[in-house]
Amino acid sequence: MNVHEYQAKQLFRDFGIPVPNGKMCTREDSVREAAQELGGDTWVVKAQVHAGGRGKGGGVRVVRSVEEAEKAAEDILNLRLVTAQTGAEGREVRKVLIEEGVAIQKELYLSMLVDRASNAPMIICSEAGGVEIEEVAAKTPEKVLQEPIDPALGLRTYQTRRIAQALGLTGPAVRQAGKMLSDLYRLFVEKDASMLEINPLVVTESGDLIALDAKLQFDDNAMFRQKDVLALRDVEEEDPLEAQASEADLSYIRLDGNIGCMVNGAGLAMATMDLIQYVGGAPANFLDVGGGASAASVEKAFRIILADTRVKAILINIFGGIVRCDRVAQGVAEAAGNVELKVSVVVRLEGTNAAEARTILEGSSIDFVVANNLRDAAEKVVSAL
Ligand code: ADP
Ligand code: MG
Repeated sequence: MNVHEYQAKQLFRDFGIPVPNGKMCTREDSVREAAQELGGDTWVVKAQVHAGGRGKGGGVRVVRSVEEAEKAAEDILNLRLVTAQTGAEGREVRKVLIEEGVAIQKELYLSMLVDRASNAPMIICSEAGGVEIEEVAAKTPEKVLQEPIDPALGLRTYQTRRIAQALGLTGPAVRQAGKMLSDLYRLFVEKDASMLEINPLVVTESGDLIALDAKLQFDDNAMFRQKDVLALRDVEEEDPLEAQASEADLSYIRLDGNIGCMVNGAGLAMATMDLIQYVGGAPANFLDVGGGASAASVEKAFRIILADTRVKAILINIFGGIVRCDRVAQGVAEAAGNVELKVSVVVRLEGTNAAEARTILEGSSIDFVVANNLRDAAEKVVSAL
């Protein structure tokens, strides 16, 4: 789960991590009042969307008067923000953060994530922040420090010293980094975060350390015990089909292709997508209806795929182990019967009650393309495009 920058910064404040003062405004709020309350003579108006790279896309503006702040907020709220992370269609901006301007001496990079290779939380940092970190890592990997943290021991003092050194910090910022790192790590663990990124972390003109940007992602599987985090969810920022799928307890992830996929079991779903790619196609989604799929959840899943206008053909690949094929066929036939189907549907059903399933599909009003095996199914769906 993702949250907005203004929400991440509030969590930072709660854990004692320095961030600039700011106020979130929607279209209904007065930007003038927000800027006046914040005071000072420089403000930054920042688009609040669940995507990074906003600065380059025109979603972050530095202003020097209240009038300019109002104008910038209006412009940004009317913007369809396109960044490297939004895709070409961009994002509607519904909220902006009005923040006090910070006099920057130096921009650094800091993140925490769960590293699969070391099976541990890891801190990644670089003296070269502010710009695209991927580029720094690719061209000058020696400028990036990776510090895995033993979860049983926590963050050790020698590690914070090593990080402060890698960030090139001197003076009071070294001590501030020690406190900030331990507060960030506490936040990361206590709130079940899966990713935390500060780019840029800055040293101000006065030599202090402050988080100028804040990105937080949380582990969905932990949300049952993180009610206050879950309350920060902004469904409007999520892909509507992904939101529908999560309500129906389906694992659905939108991808870039045009072949809709419905599969039971994550492993089979991965294999199916690999095979589609192998025969020259591109999946529009990952969708695992789960081992115990009911006719109703299959129907729901099928509707979600059909609602995706990019889908030009559908592949249903079910292995009837726990789930019975006839039940799946029933769900598919019912869903298909209720909508106007404009694309080919290739079906591969194998396992428990596969024969009954075939009879159901043949008896339905839809012209299903029945495949004999997985390879055949992938080839048929690609040629149906
Ligand atoms: P994004 O990463 O989405 O582009 P950032 O929050 O990192 O958005 O903002 C982009 C840039 O804008 C930062 O690298 C920084 O130079 C500048 N900036 C952001 N917030 C402030 C602020 N409060 N004061 C001064 N400059 C800021
Ligand atoms: Mg940033």
